[in-house]
Amino acid sequence: MAERIEQLLAAEQPLPIVAAGDPVLRRGTEPYDGQLEPALLARFVEALRVTMRAAPGVGLAAPQVGVGLRIAVIEDPAPVPEEVRLARGRVPQPFRVLVNPVYEPVGTGRVGFFEGCLSVPGYQAVVARPTEVRLTGQDEHGRALDEVFAGWPARIVQHETDHLDGTLYLDRAEPRSLSAHQAVAEHWSQPTPERAARALGFDLP
Ligand code: ZN
Repeated sequence: MAERIEQLLAAEQPLPIVAAGDPVLRRGTEPYDGQLEPALLARFVEALRVTMRAAPGVGLAAPQVGVGLRIAVIEDPAPVPEEVRLARGRVPQPFRVLVNPVYEPVGTGRVGFFEGCLSVPGYQAVVARPTEVRLTGQDEHGRALDEVFAGWPARIVQHETDHLDGTLYLDRAEPRSLSAHQAVAEHWSQPTPERAARALGFDLP
């Protein structure tokens, strides 16, 4: 594993992002338990950050650069209008490294919004997800992580943790909501997907 990552990091960055259809996105990941020396882990995390920012995206999981380790990064400057911020809970999420993350829903609330994935370029679809989740795991220094996420950051940590289990957002999406970026820009840029649900014929929670 370390050798494979050394090889990957020798290439130019940002790293290429693996697209849906590649088995590495479906295989699940090994828990991280020190397979990489601290310096190599730090370089790998930095490469994930550079690649996420360049895409640009608000999260990136190791399998998306072809690495089957249970590591992901998230960061969302949330440059959105006030009405979108309020409707979606899209508050800024500082850069974080998630090592061995696992989530469980807090309460029974669910909410559906359009989301996309760097590994499924060109499309978005509505995914109903728990409104709040408790995320446990570690950070990049091995310190325990145990935190409740709400709003858009809750969606981001679920999406990235799902990648580490070999799950893509499309597995959880409303199939009839599938929309090309252009269609989303033309028709579905409202703060919530209610009009899309009526016009395309799918249910929201
Ligand atoms: Zn994704």
